[in-house]
Amino acid sequence: ATPTALMVGTGRGAQLGILIKGPEVLETTRRADTIVLDKTGTVTTGKMTLLTVHTADGTDENDVLRLAGALEHSSEHPIAQAVAAGATERLDGATLPTPEDFTNVPGLGVRGTVEGHTVLVGRPRLLSDAGIPLPQESAAALAEAEAQGRTAVVVAWDREARGVLGVADAVKDGSADAVAGLRALGLTPILLTGDNRAVADAVAREVGIDEVYAEVMPEDKVDVVKRLQAEGRSVAMVGDGVNDAAALATADLGLAMGTGTDAAIEASDLTLVRGDLKVTADAIRLSRRTLATIR
Ligand code: ADP
Ligand code: MG
Repeated sequence: ATPTALMVGTGRGAQLGILIKGPEVLETTRRADTIVLDKTGTVTTGKMTLLTVHTADGTDENDVLRLAGALEHSSEHPIAQAVAAGATERLDGATLPTPEDFTNVPGLGVRGTVEGHTVLVGRPRLLSDAGIPLPQESAAALAEAEAQGRTAVVVAWDREARGVLGVADAVKDGSADAVAGLRALGLTPILLTGDNRAVADAVAREVGIDEVYAEVMPEDKVDVVKRLQAEGRSVAMVGDGVNDAAALATADLGLAMGTGTDAAIEASDLTLVRGDLKVTADAIRLSRRTLATIR
């Protein structure tokens, strides 16, 4: 009867929009007591919009938009897509130049050459790692954008900070309900993100999470999961990005958003086909019910 019950459980999962890698996954699903949620693209829509452009003295805003937009056009990051789309719109639909070269620096931003300039777009650390100072004026613009709950990225070229872009993303409609549903099943929700502390705290408050890990580099997301496991917790993690893949694989149970990247899906035990966070609670309920019928 055991294999039959597991097959029924797996089939029922498919109906709910949950793809289960193998029947043994139901056991780890049942045991989970902690659920780590990636922020961008998991709790929030991941669809960001360029809201503010701050330009350093003596810099033309159109140059900031054109060079940053051109570089970000080559990246799939949600911030990059917002910057490229926002730049095109603010430049009245002008075609952005094609970068001569482009490098994605995971968790920090992008670097490349546009119109002969070495351009960087990303976190302040991307600049400091390259030995480029952040003038007081740019630091103030950055702090102001973050205080408004935005993710702020700095634009630099030819070794000088030239602008600060503020982008924002909205919490998904069902996220607060999904978190409440997980709590009702006895799980402790935790928010994990590479984004800044102010944005992370604002999102956590909005959805009802009180444990937050912010400004975590992609490779350090794994360490957060391991630390929680070392406390004796059974950790489930939900994520969507390439930057979540290692942590999803390390977690006792990895859940990928079906709307996310292939890397996240491949690293996970379960896929939430429609990218609906509320289905996480359905998966846990299903595993508990399926295994209860076996025992
Ligand atoms: P998350 O964990 O929220 O999905 P990431 O680890 O992908 O975030 O990125 C962390 C931070 O690195 C972003 O909030 C942003 O400041 C910076 N960053 C990453 N990629 C880019 C990019 N393409 N352009 C600008 N900034 C970026
Ligand atoms: Mg993400």
